[in-house]
Amino acid sequence: MKITLLPSALAEPGAALHQYATSFLVNDRVAFDAGSLGFHGAPRDQAAVQHLFLSHSHIDHLASLPLFLENIIGLTESPVTVYASEAVQECLRFDVFNGRLWPNFLDLTSAGVPFLKLETLRNGQVVVAGGMRVTPIAVDHVVPTLGFLIEDATSGIVISSDTAPTEAIWAAANRMANLQAVFLEATFPDELADLARLTKHLTPAQFVAEARKLQRPTRFFAVHLRARLRDQVARELLAHGLPNLEIAQFGTTYEF
Ligand SMILES: [Zn+2]
Ligand SMILES: [Zn+2]
Repeated sequence: MKITLLPSALAEPGAALHQYATSFLVNDRVAFDAGSLGFHGAPRDQAAVQHLFLSHSHIDHLASLPLFLENIIGLTESPVTVYASEAVQECLRFDVFNGRLWPNFLDLTSAGVPFLKLETLRNGQVVVAGGMRVTPIAVDHVVPTLGFLIEDATSGIVISSDTAPTEAIWAAANRMANLQAVFLEATFPDELADLARLTKHLTPAQFVAEARKLQRPTRFFAVHLRARLRDQVARELLAHGLPNLEIAQFGTTYEF
């Protein structure tokens, strides 16, 4: 399985690359979140995405969705399937594709072909997509949010962003036969633990406590570091000395 955290900032010479929005691309065909998906590569690269899973309704995970759908019109053999919980679907309908922010792509068609196919995600209910088994697990964030267990024939990964400390996703991850890597959020530095609690995110100390809930050693990749606090969060994460921990690099493809 290969996974890329899609960049969301221009790589200016001499400047650090920052992540402002979240999208993961798995095996080039299945995307998780649409924060930066619609800004990625050429329209043809985006049209290779046949399945898109949405974790929650926050704008850093949704921002480029209207543009992504616009970019791929006429380039795909069949409409992209977008998987979202009922809560996220309600937000798409009333807050995004409402005819003001963007046309109602949920109901419009192009030459009789819908722009997308909407499927409902339910906690714990497996979806088979793009040759993978995807299990959404409810996590704990300020809006309804799902983490994902993703498995193909040879390997498994977990993506959990955004969330506060939880239990269910770790219990499910401990049952995965071939878990290779976990992509977990670490948003705020330890000194902002109050803000993390209020906004239901993790600090580096909480990240490490979450990682220890796994019963087998697994590679951990930290994602969703708040851009303006990135260096501090990264420093604190690495200082905790968790083995197999890396700060995920944008634009890098990891293979498991
Ligand atoms: Zn969020
Ligand atoms: Zn977020």
